[in-house]
Order: sequence, then C-alpha cells, then structure tokens
Amino acid sequence: MTDFSAPLRLRLDGDALLSNWHWLKGQGGAAACGAAIKANGYGLGAAEVMRRLLGAGCRDFFVSNWAEAMALEPLLDVGVSLSVLHGVRAEDMAVALHSRARPVLCTESQVARWKGAGGGACDVMVDTGMNRLGLDWRGDVGAQVAGLEIVTLLSHLASADEDAPLSRSQLARFSGLRNGVAAARYSLANSAGICLGHAYAFDMTRPGIALYGGIPRREAAGHIRQVVVPQAQVLQRRRVLAGDAIGYNATHVASADMEIAVLNLGYADGYLRGFSGRGSMRVGDMILPVVGRVSMDLTAVDVSGLPEVAEGDWLTVDYALEEAAAISGLSQYELLTGLGARFDRIWH
Ligand SMILES: *Cc1c(COP(=O)(O)O)cnc(C)c1O
Repeated sequence: MTDFSAPLRLRLDGDALLSNWHWLKGQGGAAACGAAIKANGYGLGAAEVMRRLLGAGCRDFFVSNWAEAMALEPLLDVGVSLSVLHGVRAEDMAVALHSRARPVLCTESQVARWKGAGGGACDVMVDTGMNRLGLDWRGDVGAQVAGLEIVTLLSHLASADEDAPLSRSQLARFSGLRNGVAAARYSLANSAGICLGHAYAFDMTRPGIALYGGIPRREAAGHIRQVVVPQAQVLQRRRVLAGDAIGYNATHVASADMEIAVLNLGYADGYLRGFSGRGSMRVGDMILPVVGRVSMDLTAVDVSGLPEVAEGDWLTVDYALEEAAAISGLSQYELLTGLGARFDRIWH
C-alpha cells in the first residue's frame, strides 16, 4: 500500500463502539453479550470491529455465511466462538467441517447433513413466529435435534423494535423450548430485544445495530453513541446565479445568487437519493443543506455565506442514524450496510 488516500472516509469511533457494547451487556444482566458482525460488521469492517470487541471481553460473534466466517477465522482464539447464522448448505460442508466456526443449523436437512457428517458442536435456530430461518417451534424440536451437540439454541425476535404482542408470544414459546431442548446456552435477544428487559436475555444476547450507533427503541436513546461519521472532500466550489439549475433534472433552481460546494460522495457510496434536497453536511457548527439530486458519485451543498469552505476541504455528513433514517426514508440498517467500499475506514 502507498499512502494514497480516498476523497471520502468513515471516521469510526472505537470508544463509542465499546461504550455501546458495555451498555448493551449491562442491560442483559448476567447474560453474556455477543455481537452480530455480519455484512462486514454492518459496513464498518468486520475484522476491525471483532478485534476491538475481543479486547473488551466479547466472546461470541455472528456472521451470515462461510465466506464471512473464513475471513475472520484468524481472529478465533481459544474461548472465542463464531457462529454462521445461515447454517450449512451442501456446498459449505467441506469448509464447515474443518472450520473453528460453528453452523447455526436452521432446517431439518441441515440437521441431517451435520449429523451424517459427524459435524460436532453446532448451534440451532428455532423459528418462534417470524417465519424466517429455523426449525418450526410447533414441531417436535427435541426429537429433531436429538444427538446433536448444541452449544447455543437461538431464536430471533420479529418485532422487538415496537410494542407488539408478538414479542411476548415469542418469549413464551422460546421459554417452553428451553425446557424441552437440551443446549449449553439459550439466546433470543437482538439489540431491540435487549431493551425489552432481562426476561429476554437468557444466557446470551446478540446485539448488532445498537453496537454501531443505531437506536433500536426509545430505551436506548441517550445511552447509545454514534460510531460512524462519513466525511467527504470538496472537489469544486462554484457560484450559481439566480435562475440557474443544480444537478440532474434541474430539481433545484436558485432563487438568488448562491455558492455551492460539490462533494465526492454519491448514491454509489450508499448516500442514496432519499437525501436529495433533504440531507445536510457540517463544517464546524454550520449546517450545509444538500441542494438538488444526489448523483452516483457527487452531491452539492449550499455554502453561501461561508467563504472559508474551499476545494479540498472535508465536510462531515449528518449521519446520526435515527435522524438520517427519518430524513432519507431508509432504515438505520440500510444506512450502515449500504456504505460502500470506496470509503477509507479510519478508526480513532
Ligand atoms: C442480525 C441478527 C442479530 C442482530 O440484530 P440487530 O437488530 O442488528 O441487533 C441477532 N440475531 C440474528 C439471528 C440476526 O440475524
């Protein structure tokens, strides 16, 4: 690597990541607190997130597939567990049988495949009402998994981010399974589920979004800190005359003479078109509104009256996840996982 640097970067706050993990762990009482680091650590960089959480004492990590697991295997020390949430397809078996990561078996054929190969320690996912992945809670799960060496029995909450009766139903169903299915540990709660109280924590919680600054429920507001701050460089500053249009389809027409800065950031970086005419950037405590449409690689902001903003300057994108979600119409999850490969990811 040379010292080449990109014209856009994510400033990643390592203290905030750890502070969020400690708060989430505390909310789970005596339960262990793991971390969902699938989708490249929700866009932040899975290896770097894992390294930092390992340093804080986190021992249980979750990814979606075996490609993600393989990339993290070098970080797997004794006592550290990495679970692959999508289980094992036939195509994964060669890798899975020799990996230190464990599959989360989700279907009866995955169970049969793992048993048939003498796969050893595994996790199992039971569906308790979301109808996504997992063995059906209504079935005879105990019989289906007999003979497996189950480290963690998991289920996943569908609506924990709202006050929905489904969460209580899922809690009751999962509590019933704990009595009928033998496993070393039981785990139900994601970030939002952690906010529902100790009853949901069981032996281990599995936060994702809240680690990275997402606010899953009101209970977390004021406790969860922003981790990800995108910044982009000004490529050109220009004067726009009254009556001139800005950007694709001329959606913004200047009502008076104005100055704009054109930034190296666009929808191909995950700054999607929902921010057109709605998002904002900051320099110091000045707010610079986005004007016109976000392009693939470029976005314009109003810098009228701010002569100090010049070509080459870095502007900070307003990206507090709750507010940015409200402005853009995207979920907090989409806002993070959409952040592209062109950002330099810089921890501080
Ligand atoms: C993604 C995921 C999590 C983490 O969910 P958040 O809502 O991001 O906290 C936990 N468990 C499972 C099974 C998941 O797929």
